[in-house]
Amino acid sequence: MIYLDNQATTPLAPEVFDAMAPWLGHDFGNPHSPHIMGRKAFAAVELAREQVATLFPDGGQVYFTGTATEALNMAFGVVRGMQETGRNRIVLPDTEHAAVRDTALWYRSQGFDVLLHPVREDGRVSLDDLVKVIDQKTALVASMLVNNEIGVIQPVREIADLARQAGAVSLCDAVQGYGRVDIPDNIDMAAISGHKIYGPKGVGALWVRDGIDVPPLIHGGGQEGGLRSGTLSPALCVGMGKAASLCAIRADADREHISALAARARACFSDWTINGSAEERYPGNLNIRREGLDVARLMSDVRSVAFSAGSACASGSGRPSHVLAALGLERDQIKSSIRLGFGRYNSLEEIESAARTINEAAEAQ
Ligand code: PLP
Repeated sequence: MIYLDNQATTPLAPEVFDAMAPWLGHDFGNPHSPHIMGRKAFAAVELAREQVATLFPDGGQVYFTGTATEALNMAFGVVRGMQETGRNRIVLPDTEHAAVRDTALWYRSQGFDVLLHPVREDGRVSLDDLVKVIDQKTALVASMLVNNEIGVIQPVREIADLARQAGAVSLCDAVQGYGRVDIPDNIDMAAISGHKIYGPKGVGALWVRDGIDVPPLIHGGGQEGGLRSGTLSPALCVGMGKAASLCAIRADADREHISALAARARACFSDWTINGSAEERYPGNLNIRREGLDVARLMSDVRSVAFSAGSACASGSGRPSHVLAALGLERDQIKSSIRLGFGRYNSLEEIESAARTINEAAEAQ
């Protein structure tokens, strides 16, 4: 099996596995216990927090969560306190992941005015249009850094500036960007996920700028600054910290490797059309379409490559992609799109072999 679905999840880095192992074995202390085993676990968790924080701006705090979805839900809590001050608008591009989009839409039931802002054909928001809807009534402006389906990079720095100028808070879904693309230093909050950075599943984090008031999501023993009660898993936190530090250490090597894979893939699929901007994108994502292609059939024919249909959202719900629809693609074009995601552990040979298999199956149709 050739794994080309690195936006869905990434394999665990071997170094991460090794770092986690003791915490699943003899080092089983509760990081919130005052005795020596507890203090050792606490120290490991705090080191991991620092490692995760390294790729975020100075002047903020990292809170561990179970997933990025949870972190994003936690971040949205800021709008509650702002509603009382007359700020009841939430603005986000129409192409956000369900973890942001559906959370925002839920706030409609709480009396918020939620604007799903259209994107251009290239998948990026127009700042000239966005500025018109971010006003003194706006509480939160959310925007992902790298889109999980099409890899397009949003102008998050400029969006966060617009939010700040209007007195609103900015939230960045950095799940697909963290460790790959620089995080703009003017954002107020950002969410990430362990399993997208060669770390473990079941751990995420929310970074919050000092001074931003996020209310508790889970009440209980007061862990994670009282925002997210519950005993932390040292193994998962250590794994995420190690994964983050590897991303930092290997940044140049990873970037070079992914760029080489992307260049080879683009050459192999040169007669396909790229969905979204060809330039403003993370190169490890290639979302492409071919006229008349039946992707469901392609996926059942190509059993030796793990990739994703562009027509289904990443959760595998089977819902047609709202992202591709937001680019203005017709239903047929959406149904003829695939997503290939390259990662640290793919080789050029794998790209060539997968491309051969996919192109042959597409030809056969
Ligand atoms: N945001 C983006 C852009 C994602 O790609 C994902 C995962 O697919 C999430 C949020 C949710 O992450 P998690 O699986 O940690 O909840």
